[in-house]
Amino acid sequence: MRREAVICDVCGRVKQAANHWFVAEAVRGIIRILPASGNDLARGALSQDVCGDDCLHKWISINLSDITKETHAEEQQPTENI
Ligand SMILES: [Zn+2]
Repeated sequence: MRREAVICDVCGRVKQAANHWFVAEAVRGIIRILPASGNDLARGALSQDVCGDDCLHKWISINLSDITKETHAEEQQPTENI
């Protein structure tokens, strides 16, 4: 089976054989992070590949702000773009 190159969704690095990558996804305010241990069953449709701790921290802060926006969008009727 041909394997496609796995690329970090944060920094664009290409995954090599030995790396401590993560599979991360944020769905409806739930953040799920799993070690990418070659277990493709962990992957969902919205999963993103993250190459290590540094990018995982960036990924979390990006997605936390998105979740905060979504939460506020659900709580309030949209009024105007600020
Ligand atoms: Zn990265």
